Amino acid sequence: SKLLEIRDLKVKYGNIEALHGVSLYVDKGEIVTLIGANGAGKSTTLMSISRLPPPEAPKVIEGDILYDGQSLLDWVPDKIVADLHLALVPEGRRIFGNLSVEENLRLATYARKDTPTDVERDYKRVYSLFPRLHERRKQQSESLSGGEQQMLAVGRALMSGCTFIMLDEPSMGLAPLLMYDMFRALKELNREGMTILLIEQNANLALKFADRGYVIDTGEIVAQGPSDQLMDDP
Ligand code: ADP
Ligand code: ADP
Repeated sequence: SKLLEIRDLKVKYGNIEALHGVSLYVDKGEIVTLIGANGAGKSTTLMSISRLPPPEAPKVIEGDILYDGQSLLDWVPDKIVADLHLALVPEGRRIFGNLSVEENLRLATYARKDTPTDVERDYKRVYSLFPRLHERRKQQSESLSGGEQQMLAVGRALMSGCTFIMLDEPSMGLAPLLMYDMFRALKELNREGMTILLIEQNANLALKFADRGYVIDTGEIVAQGPSDQLMDDP
């Protein structure tokens, strides 16, 4: 069943149209990737769904974004996370550098409505998926490596209690070994039921990981299908 469905989405920044009618869907439990060159419209698509960050939010002109059958267009970003359990890990690892790893994770739980037991279970899950974060839990976050900060950004999304996670270029700037750890952790989450929408410039990496993909070029979807069919050189 379609968990997320984007229908013929047109989006503008001021007078400039950045998306010219994008349609895509993600089924519950799937890993879907949206790939394309820099400037193609990948981040704009994700920001239209989550409307984060508010000051730069692109404006939806036409089309609709449905989540679990209801339109997302009237929802505010905080509600999308707290009530719909949909989280975005934006590009640039938005974490609080002056706070510890532990404090960053704790802050991400503020809007949760479920029980302390659920929250406790998610701490354990984050630390077991990313043992490096557990080792460094008392450290100030800005002292972590870039890759560890990216893991923390994903950890924060998990601590928000999400069941659908959207990631904007999680491989960006990661050393190969950390990249492997990151994608292995995401696969593990998916096996436990997490639905994933991944944005990547690194198409090969993304298609190896995803079930299905969409290729976007200058604001339009130009190809779509199962990952093995989209790979140039499978
Ligand atoms: P990608 O994520 O694929 O690199 P973006 O979604 O960031 O692409 O950008 C799509 C298009 O929208 C580009 O032409 C980009 O210059 C433009 N764009 C992105 N953000 C803004 C913004 N805040 N204001 C104006 N134009 C923007
Ligand atoms: P991305 O891969 O996210 O598109 P960019 O380097 O293109 O990264 O953009 C960095 C930031 O600048 C983003 O937050 C984006 O919204 C904004 N941005 C991108 N293009 C433009 C633009 N043409 N005018 C204004 N802001 C832009």
